[in-house]
Order: sequence, then C-alpha cells, then structure tokens
Amino acid sequence: MTLPSRPGLEAVPAYRQGRSAPAGASKLSSNESPHPPLPSVVEAVQQRLATMHRYPDMSAAALRGRLAERYGVDPAAVTVGAGSVELAAQLIHAAAGPGDEVMFAWRSFEAYPSLVRIAGAIPVAVPLDEHHTHDLDAMLAAITPRTRLIFVCNPNNPTGTVVTAEALEAFVAAVPHDVLVVIDEAYVHFDRTGSFGAGVELFRRHPHVAVLHTFSKAYGLAGLRVGYALAPTEVAENQRKVAVPFGVTDLAQAAAVASLDAEDELATRIDEVVAQRERLHGLLTEAGWPAVPSQANFVWVPAGERTGALDASLHDGGVIARAFPDEGIRISSGSMEDIDRVQSALQIPSALQEARA
Ligand SMILES: *Cc1c(COP(=O)(O)O)cnc(C)c1O
Repeated sequence: MTLPSRPGLEAVPAYRQGRSAPAGASKLSSNESPHPPLPSVVEAVQQRLATMHRYPDMSAAALRGRLAERYGVDPAAVTVGAGSVELAAQLIHAAAGPGDEVMFAWRSFEAYPSLVRIAGAIPVAVPLDEHHTHDLDAMLAAITPRTRLIFVCNPNNPTGTVVTAEALEAFVAAVPHDVLVVIDEAYVHFDRTGSFGAGVELFRRHPHVAVLHTFSKAYGLAGLRVGYALAPTEVAENQRKVAVPFGVTDLAQAAAVASLDAEDELATRIDEVVAQRERLHGLLTEAGWPAVPSQANFVWVPAGERTGALDASLHDGGVIARAFPDEGIRISSGSMEDIDRVQSALQIPSALQEARA
C-alpha cells in the first residue's frame, strides 16, 4: 500500500537551506545579518515571553499600523507573514491556481519555482540577461493570457543586480492590469543606486503592484520569521484567506515594531554590511574571479565549472558559502572578520591553481 501523494509534488524540489557552518567557521550561505540582535529588540521580545501561552494578535494590528503610517498607506493594504517567503506564497495562492502561469527571472530566488508548483500553477522562468540582470523585455514578451503574477526580485538573489526605477516603471506600465507584479525587495536596504525604494512608489502609483519586504536580512530577525507586503486591498483580502492562521508570533511582531523604532541604529549596521560587500567584491576581483557588482548583502561569482574549486578553497579557509554546482557561488557579506577570512581563503593556492588550470 502506498500513502497518498498529491500528483505534481514529484516536480517540487525541497527547499535547500544554506549549509550550516562548523564551529568557528563563517556562515556566509544564507544572507543573514552578521550582527547579533539589538539590545532594544531583545528587551522587547523578553517583555512578551510571559504571555506566550496566548495566541498572537492574528491581525498584527500594532505592526501593520506602524507600517501603514511609515508608508502613508491604508492599513488594509498591509499584510504580514512568517517571513516574506510566506507572503510570496500567499500572493501566489491568492492570484493563481492550476493552469495559471507565474513568471520570474532565472536564476532568482530559489523558493519561487517550488511555491508556484505547490499552488498547482505553472512556473515560467525567463533567463537573466548577459549582465545577470532581469531581462524585462523578454519577460514582457513571455506574458500570455494565462499569466497571473510576475515576480521581480530587486536587487536579485543570487546575482545582486538591480533594475532601475525607470526601467521598472516602464515595465509595470506595460504589464496588463489584470496581472499582479510583485516586487520582492528583500535586499532593498543594501541598494546604493538611486533606485532605492522604487517598489513602494510603484505600489502607490499603479493598481497592479505589490511589494515584499522582510525583517530577516537588513533588520537581522531571520530566526523570528516576519515580513510584510503592501498589496492592492482586494489582493490583501485574499491573502488573509489563504494565510495559515496565527503564522506570525507575538514575539516576532514585538521584535519587528522594536526594529522600526531602531532604524537609525540599524542603518549604521547596514552601512557596515555594504562596506564589507564592496570589499568582498574587490577581493574576489583582485583574485581573478568574475564577481558581479552587487547592491545586496552578498556577491555572486558566476564561476561556471570552476565553482567547485572556489567553494573548496573557501571551505578550506573556514568559509561556508552557497554554491550552485557548475554555475556560480554566492557569498554573503558578513562582518569584517568574516571577509578577512574570505581574503585568506582566496590565497589558498592549491584550489585556486587547480581552478585556473
Ligand atoms: C531571504 C529572501 C526572502 C525572504 O526571506 P524571509 O526570511 O522569508 O523573510 C524573500 N525574497 C528573497 C529574494 C530572499 O532572498
């Protein structure tokens, strides 16, 4: 006897977490913040520990209210989820079903294809251009009557590239209004081009745009699982229908509000991560690797068949990165010490010589 298994699930790959690091190694495989939580955030969470026998506020009213105020939008347009990956799932389930198409660039966030298949919809992956950037013209050309939703990951994971606010605006304007454009800005805080914040502006100006933000990366709350979306209110209503009830814990809500209170302090940390990202890019380039300039908290090295060799030398130097076999490697920008370690690892001769041979 075989237990039931939903048809189609065989095509869904299980999500792969960035490799964990052995004690003492630098974990640069999941784009987490290298900084421990702010004392004020820890304090806010501690104050809520004594009420963990109660369910959280399912509407997350305090957090959503703060976000609505921050962006000057209707609180009904703000939804929260257990990380923005849950919001991506909500948006897909709210907009697409069997036979519908959901488009994204490729390579991009690894979760997209699985989430689309889990919804029974059809993933449409449009290759990045030769600069490892979204090919918005090709994406426009790939729209069909069955397209329901398009993800634009900006800056893109894992390549760190951005599309400009102007290009994104032209794209959004050209997409039919019955297709939802979801701008995933998980890394927007690390963007030092002028396009910072483009997604929220587009959300304000266009009826078919949603934006995803997370507290996991720049705000350093990856372990608590909280993110939010700004979406057209009728979409947000449907998101609430498909959401898993009580998905965002009270601790996560409290930590998110405390983080919004501490944005000045967090900005300093974000600047440090950006400085180490630039240093990381420089080190890789000097060592002869084809590192792509990045606007996120990681650097992509499309090393092709040399990927394994680069991964091995990093590993030997105590650095755990995210390798995509024969394609490339993504290294998160960690603390100064982490990037010192990358610097030393890049000197490890055996693997490098082997790679260049
Ligand atoms: C990390 C990431 C997210 C969200 O992560 P959560 O921890 O679920 O908030 C969303 N999109 C992209 C592209 C990411 O890299």
